[in-house]
Amino acid sequence: MVDAPELEAFRLEARGWLQANLPESIRDNPSQVALAMVDGAPQPKDVLLWRSRLGARGWGVPTWPTRYGGGGLTASQASVLKDEMARIGAINPIGGLGVMMFGPTLLEYGNPEQLERHIPPIAKGQLRWCQGFSEPGAGSDLASLQMTALDEGDSFRVTGQKVWTTGAQHAHWCFCLVRTDKGPSKHDGISFLMIDMASPGVEVRPIILISGESPFCETFFTDVLVPKANLVGPRGGGWQVAKRLLQHERQNTSVGSSPIGVASTANIGDLARSHVGVDADNQLVDRDLRHRMAEHQMQARTFALTHARAEAESRANSGPSNTASIMKNAGGQVRAERAELTIELMGNEGLYWSEEVRGWLRGKSGAIAGGSAEIQNNIIAKRILGLPDATDTQPPKAR
Ligand SMILES: Cc1cc2nc3c(=O)[nH]c(=O)nc-3n(C[C@H](O)[C@H](O)[C@H](O)COP(=O)(O)OP(=O)(O)OC[C@H]3O[C@@H](n4cnc5c(N)ncnc54)[C@H](O)[C@@H]3O)c2cc1C
Repeated sequence: MVDAPELEAFRLEARGWLQANLPESIRDNPSQVALAMVDGAPQPKDVLLWRSRLGARGWGVPTWPTRYGGGGLTASQASVLKDEMARIGAINPIGGLGVMMFGPTLLEYGNPEQLERHIPPIAKGQLRWCQGFSEPGAGSDLASLQMTALDEGDSFRVTGQKVWTTGAQHAHWCFCLVRTDKGPSKHDGISFLMIDMASPGVEVRPIILISGESPFCETFFTDVLVPKANLVGPRGGGWQVAKRLLQHERQNTSVGSSPIGVASTANIGDLARSHVGVDADNQLVDRDLRHRMAEHQMQARTFALTHARAEAESRANSGPSNTASIMKNAGGQVRAERAELTIELMGNEGLYWSEEVRGWLRGKSGAIAGGSAEIQNNIIAKRILGLPDATDTQPPKAR
């Protein structure tokens, strides 16, 4: 627990450090950091400098332990740091799946050697991770996965296919669910493995979308030898580790995983004023739109505050819980509404291939990635409300 004077001293320390270390060019143009965080994007010199300075300080992952390259801050110090970064217009350049979901999961389930090896490069933003969970026959019903890992002494021989693997073509490592054993239920016998993407037998095929972009891939594994030291958690007990990781994923994606999407829609009020026009009282001339905009802004603000509280609670307690499913669905609805309003108020300009239109389209996937909205509703019904299963027979357990 840090008391108020200590927190104030920390605020001054953070403010001074940010003043001294945030390169000028980024202060003038913070969105260049968000742009550089897109997989495969060019990395301006000052973004690299900013990433290395923040990484060395540990403040890219402020609450992770200092021993592994984190900032070692308390939840309230981290929240002060967030405020100070917003104040100076600094965007955290250290992110991705390693920070959002794999790192926190490894910190909980990894052994000391795994932590020493894998956490510091994530904390410094040096290595990228991808998620090998979904397969062609295993999405919502993830426990049906078929990728096999045969025991070969010190290693597993891994063969199978993953799909929708975000950023696999840029990733150094993949955290993967594989089947090592047969168990009484399909949830038993699944193991959680870390696979080096440079291993012989790994083949990545980017899926090209109608936009020409390839945010995700098909990833093939053929006789890939993976050291047993790369097993996270107990052999055959990977389902528990995976469920924990999905809670981290859902908590994070509830606020939107795309820094660009968030930045481009943050000033919806300004966008409305410039496109729709204002009256003598500086109010939007379209009363109906004004009313819906106000309702939306209230919803968005309520969600942001609830999310901040849930995040602080989960940092102070034992991490996220099944309530992450509520936050994922609620956040997705707020973002979808904002994207609809944005396109509506842009009028004819909303018909062009603009960043806003791309954000609106991209936003549709938020209700699917990390487990669909329907699956979150199932989790909320069963695990939070305690409602019975929809069928009398044993249905497939949702991810
Ligand atoms: C942008 C994006 C990025 C992704 N990135 C990754 C990644 O990096 N790694 C990875 O492993 N996966 C990734 N995924 C895959 C994602 O996890 C799956 O798409 C998701 O879990 C749904 O699985 P599915 O596509 O097989 O759909 P299906 O499981 O076939 O579902 C189809 C429809 O049926 C509904 N449905 C299914 N079962 C039930 C049920 N029991 N009750 C009610 N409705 C149900 C679903 O809600 C959905 O609407 C990504 C997906 C997207 C969109």
